[in-house]
Amino acid sequence: MAETLEREKKEASEHQADSDSTADLTDGFHLLIDALKMNDLNTIYGVPGIPITDFGRLAQASGMRVLSFRHEQHAGNAAAIAGFLTKKPGLCLTVSAPGFLNGLTALANATTNCFPMILLSGSSEREIVDLQQGDYEEMDQLAIAKPLCKAAFRVLHAEDIGIAVARAYRAAVSGRPGGVYLDLPAKLFGQVMDAELGKKSLVKVIDPAPAQIPAQSAIDRALDVLKSAKKPLIILGKGAAYAQCDDVVKQFVEASGVPYLPMSMAKGLLPDTHPQCASAARSLVLKESDVVMLVGARLNWLLSHGKGKQWGEPGSKKFIQVDIEPSEMDSNIEIAAPLVGDIESCLSSLLGSIKSADVAQPPAAWIDTVNEKRSTNLKRMAQKTGSDTTPMDFHGALGALKNIIEQRPETILVNEGANTLDFARGIIDIHKPRKRLDVGTWGIMGIGMGAAVAAAVETGHPVLAVEGDSAFGFSGMEVETICRYNLPVCIVVFNNNGIYRGTDTNPTGGPDVAPTVFVKDARYDLMMQAFGGEGISVESRDELDAAVNKALDSGKPTLINAVIDENAGTESGRIGNLNPQSVVKK
Ligand code: ADP
Ligand code: MG
Repeated sequence: MAETLEREKKEASEHQADSDSTADLTDGFHLLIDALKMNDLNTIYGVPGIPITDFGRLAQASGMRVLSFRHEQHAGNAAAIAGFLTKKPGLCLTVSAPGFLNGLTALANATTNCFPMILLSGSSEREIVDLQQGDYEEMDQLAIAKPLCKAAFRVLHAEDIGIAVARAYRAAVSGRPGGVYLDLPAKLFGQVMDAELGKKSLVKVIDPAPAQIPAQSAIDRALDVLKSAKKPLIILGKGAAYAQCDDVVKQFVEASGVPYLPMSMAKGLLPDTHPQCASAARSLVLKESDVVMLVGARLNWLLSHGKGKQWGEPGSKKFIQVDIEPSEMDSNIEIAAPLVGDIESCLSSLLGSIKSADVAQPPAAWIDTVNEKRSTNLKRMAQKTGSDTTPMDFHGALGALKNIIEQRPETILVNEGANTLDFARGIIDIHKPRKRLDVGTWGIMGIGMGAAVAAAVETGHPVLAVEGDSAFGFSGMEVETICRYNLPVCIVVFNNNGIYRGTDTNPTGGPDVAPTVFVKDARYDLMMQAFGGEGISVESRDELDAAVNKALDSGKPTLINAVIDENAGTESGRIGNLNPQSVVKK
């Protein structure tokens, strides 16, 4: 009896000693969680698996939000959009090799779009990978990530986790934002170190995206060019939306009196219904303006590189460009007044000068010309968007959605497709900043559900995802994710039975259908029902209107299969010119 008691006492004290000793220790798992939380990075989008499964669990247990997807690319797209919406790097967590590669597509896309994100990926053991001895999911991930993102780091020692997170954070958000890769070999997570030393190794990042103040000489040069204009134009890009200095942008545009064009994700910085908005006179202002001021917009393919027919006579314009990235200047054509700095600092400074130096308003003749064109085009468009045919055409269906967004301006619109994208961009007015998320700089398909999840999670606002049937297919399985987290997302699939149109046939008469068509009369709404969400198929404008309003009122995950005339739609939407077509007849 005494002996048993003695043994039990001994065991109890050994146990105590054990837990005392681990109480003084920490490990890679906990250090990474603590480092992220210390920097207010509290949400992770990812897919669990070896070697990061327990990391996700522990992160959730620590109070972080951990959202699991069905495919890493969509988790990555969610992280990128979280970065765009919050100005903090969105986090994506993936397993090694194939999971990493899936996430990498999103990281490259984030970098291309100047969205801050960090891809945290588990990886195999360095010793085995470097000798190419065939580890589980072996891949030299750091080397592969490097050319596709803004910065890439590997952490080998637990005591370096704090510094690594700080470096990744700064690299993602400072200067021109972008994607950062953080390579985390499996062994790192289990590495143990003294808890007190571990705590001291963490870094709270101070002022991660420092203001970049423009030189006064650059401000003066920009003002001189602006003052010389007879037909000025401002182009706002998604960099201006990202900068979150909405009041300064609005005040500057209004004080200048200059007509402006918003690029697609800059729509809503000022409401699209603003009297200075020249979207409905786009061709005219691009062609006829004499001074163009770019604010957080690049002269890439989306603006025909600043040259060509669309831009009128060669040499007929001077450009002012406001951008945080010095090497963006002269990327495609000469910039007469480069203004390098962050948008808030640059526009605040210009605004002060405009007010005090009395920069004249643009000549009335120019404003009248723009307004005339604008009202003619708006009238023409209103006729088309009034369309009420069954099956619906793009204009009628989008006309209904335009009215809904007008009544519910808080709603975030996610938009991808070919025709569905091009028409929606022109038809649906956006009324508030950062309420339109779309295919971005690459014009890619597949961002839809990732963007929808992040928009709902980061803002708490309802989301309306307007998707071509083809575009939806790239991320469609994530409807399960949307149901699982019960997110206020309403997806409308514009179903015209195929890519561009549903009418192509196989000229050989063989058994395969044409490469651009899908199963006819598919019921995408049933996919949502499979996971407990609401699903409905609609054929008329009234039915669509009622279904979307119901979904947005209820906040329940909903998928509306909107039947669109399969003859509606054009090849490649508005970028048919980029799609080579054979002229050889065989
Ligand atoms: P869009 O596609 O809408 O035309 P782009 O992605 O081409 O926009 O351009 C965005 C630009 O904004 C990039 O050149 C980027 O360097 C710049 N940018 C991003 N954030 C800021 C900021 N805070 N201040 C200044 N420029 C910024
Ligand atoms: Mg289609």
